[in-house]
Amino acid sequence: MKKLLLPTSIVGSLPKPAWLAPPEKLWSPWKLDGDQLIEGKQDALRISLQEQELADLDIICDGEQTRQHFVTTFIEHLSGVDFENRKTVKIRNRYDASVPVVVGEVARQKAVFVEDAKFLRKQTNKPIKWALPGPLTMVDTLYDDHYKSREKLAWEFAKALNEEARELQDAGVDIIQFDEPAFNVFFNEVNDWGMAALERAIEGLHCQTAIHICYGYGIQANTDWKKTLGSEWRQYEEIFPKIQKSKIDVVSLECHNSNVPLNLMELVRGKKVMVGAIDVATNTIETPEEVAATLRKALEFVDAENLYPSTNCGMAPLSRDVARGKLSALSAGAEIIRKELGI
Ligand SMILES: [Zn+2]
Repeated sequence: MKKLLLPTSIVGSLPKPAWLAPPEKLWSPWKLDGDQLIEGKQDALRISLQEQELADLDIICDGEQTRQHFVTTFIEHLSGVDFENRKTVKIRNRYDASVPVVVGEVARQKAVFVEDAKFLRKQTNKPIKWALPGPLTMVDTLYDDHYKSREKLAWEFAKALNEEARELQDAGVDIIQFDEPAFNVFFNEVNDWGMAALERAIEGLHCQTAIHICYGYGIQANTDWKKTLGSEWRQYEEIFPKIQKSKIDVVSLECHNSNVPLNLMELVRGKKVMVGAIDVATNTIETPEEVAATLRKALEFVDAENLYPSTNCGMAPLSRDVARGKLSALSAGAEIIRKELGI
């Protein structure tokens, strides 16, 4: 990957066009099927790429246009999981969801996103980043009726993720990001085996690897949860020491409009940090100055060569106009800081 200072990128998702899935909601069902769905997803991916390029972002994502859910779309491609007879569980100790059930050995039978990644790779010369769910968050998004051990199941998922990640790397993906919002909730598990499982998932990779840990999409359950966290959100403090010691290259964090004390970034000094300078839980579009202010504060704790301006989380539930405005603000805010630094 070409050396680029303050490279901008989104965390992952962008809104889907209304002809592909009903807009402004999470996990929206497809409106097309069969070959039309395949073609529709590719067209949406092209649009998402164009919007990122028009906003002048430096690292391009697929906007998660080919997946319905950031965890279950991956799990759907594994054997050993029953999607018909679902069970209701509490996700991240926060909200009930109807989830698939693990009924046998889980294994990756075929590539999940590799064709999509090859498709994206062909459309742009910029570095590309691809998001996968992390093992701990996967374990927390289904009901296990087979292994009866979150740790064992996470280990199996890590193996499947590693197979996928290696093929994504071969397809030309520059950064593979693992989404682990559950890291912000289950600290003991992260420290006991969650981080080890993630390291298993990145074993043997030579592309860059990232972990994204946030406070979630702007849905009610998350907003309510955040209200219980007090005036300082210190969750990152519990897990950063473990991440600091790991082989993960990039840490993606929520910062703007959140109560995360930014000095916690000191705990991952030396890692690259994707600093969330765009709030995804509001329709208010940040001004470039606001983005710059967040990045400026982050620079107290992150060296400029390690600062990756980004969003707090995915933008799937926003309107396309709002998301577009936020992409431009991110880019313009980063440019302000580049000028200040004379780079
Ligand atoms: Zn997130």
